Amino acid sequence: MARLSPVLKQATPVTVSRARGLEVFGEDGRRYLDFTAGIGVTSTGHCHPAVVSAIAEQAGKLIHGQYVTVRHRPLLDLCERLGQVLPARLQSLFFANSGSEAMESALRLCRQATGRANVIVFHGGFHGRTVGAASMTTSSPRFRTGYAPLMGGVNIAPFPAAYRYGWNEEEATRFALQELDFLLATVTAPEDTAALIVEPVLGEGGFIPANSAFLQGLRERADRHGFLLVMDEVQTGFGRTGRFWGHQHFGVEPDILVAAKGMTSGLPLSVMATSDKLMSAAPAGSQGGTYGGNAVACAAALATLDVIEQEELVANAALRGRALADGLRRIAADHDITGDVRGLGLMLGWELSTADGQPDPAAALRVQQEAIGQGLLLQIGGPVRNVLRLLPALTVNADQVDEALRALGRAVATATPLPHAHRAKERA
Ligand code: PMP
Repeated sequence: MARLSPVLKQATPVTVSRARGLEVFGEDGRRYLDFTAGIGVTSTGHCHPAVVSAIAEQAGKLIHGQYVTVRHRPLLDLCERLGQVLPARLQSLFFANSGSEAMESALRLCRQATGRANVIVFHGGFHGRTVGAASMTTSSPRFRTGYAPLMGGVNIAPFPAAYRYGWNEEEATRFALQELDFLLATVTAPEDTAALIVEPVLGEGGFIPANSAFLQGLRERADRHGFLLVMDEVQTGFGRTGRFWGHQHFGVEPDILVAAKGMTSGLPLSVMATSDKLMSAAPAGSQGGTYGGNAVACAAALATLDVIEQEELVANAALRGRALADGLRRIAADHDITGDVRGLGLMLGWELSTADGQPDPAAALRVQQEAIGQGLLLQIGGPVRNVLRLLPALTVNADQVDEALRALGRAVATATPLPHAHRAKERA
C-alpha cells in the first residue's frame, strides 16, 4: 500500500476534513483555531465564500489556458489589478506556481539583466527548496543538506538579527552593513555581483523584521554598484504585515518583487514584478512553465484582492497584530519567560530562550504541542526551531485573538518547565 513519504514531516497529529474562516475541523470532529493560515496562505480565511464562488465559476468556464499559446481573461485582469497595488516602477509581471519557482525566475533575470553571476543573500533567509532557491536559503541546514554541489555564486551576509547577537537594532544594522561591505571588498567584487536578495521580514528564519536603515543601506549599495535589489515578499506580501507590502514599512523599494502565498487564499500562484526595462533582459521563452498563470488560480487571486480591499484586511492585520503582540508580551511577563516577542502585523514570532539566553527549541515544541491540545494550531520556525510563529488569516477578529491568547496562556502554564518559570516560582 502506498503511503506518504516520511520527508513530509507532520508537525501536528491533525487530519483536516474541512475548514472555514479560522476554524479547522479534524476528521475526528475536533475544532481547532488556525493561527498558521496554512503557512500564511489562507489570507482571507479558509474557504472565504467570495473566493470559493470565484473559483467555482471560473472552473466552469476555463481551468487551463497555456499562456504561451493563448491569453485568458483572468490572467489579463489580474495583471491590471496587481498593477494597482504594486509600486509604479514594477509593472511588468511574470507568473509561476510557487514561491521557489518565482525566486528562480528572479535569480535568472538578475543574471540575464546584469551579465554578472554572483548574488548576495542574508543569513536566516528562506527562498525555497528548488536547487537555486535552496542555494540561496540559509534558514536551516535541512534545506541544503544532500544537495551538494549547490549552485555556485551565492554569498551570505549577516541580517540585522539584533536579539540573536544580543545587540540593539542600530548595532546589529551597523555590523550587517559593515560585513556586507567587507564581503564586497574581499569575496565578491561589485562588478561580479548581480543582486542583493532579501526578505523584508525573515519568515522561516524566525519572523525577524529588517529595518529602514538596513534596507536603505542595501538600496544605496545596489544603486552605487549596479546590483539589483530583490525583495522576497512571498510571506510578507498581500497585507500580512499590516501594510500591503512588507517593504512599505521601511520606505525602500526593490527592483524586483516576488510574491506568492497570500495572493490566492490557497491555490498555487506566484508573481515576479519588475520594470519593463529589466524584464526585457529575459529573452522571450527563457522563462515560463506549463501551469503558470492558471486561470482558476488567477480568479482566486482576483477574488482575494477584492476581499482584502472590501473587508479592509490590511488595516485589520495591523490592528489585530498589535493586540496579539501585546497579549504575547503579557503571557511572557506573567510567566517570567525569557525570549523575544517581535514581528509586524500578523506575522508575529515569540523566540524562546533558556535562562542564560540560549535558544530553547524544546520549550517551543512543548508549547506548540500543548497549544494543539488546547485547540490552537501554531507553527515553529527559526534556524534552530525555537520561535513560535503566529500568523492567523487577515480576517481574524478580536474574539479569536482573545481565544488564541487564552489557549496559549494555558499551553504555556502546562508546558512546564519553561525557561524562567521555575525561577518565578522560587521568588514567589
Ligand atoms: N520565499 C519565502 C520567503 C518563503 O517563505 C517561501 C515558502 N516558505 C518561499 C520563498 C518558497 O515558496 P514555495 O514553498 O511556494 O515554493
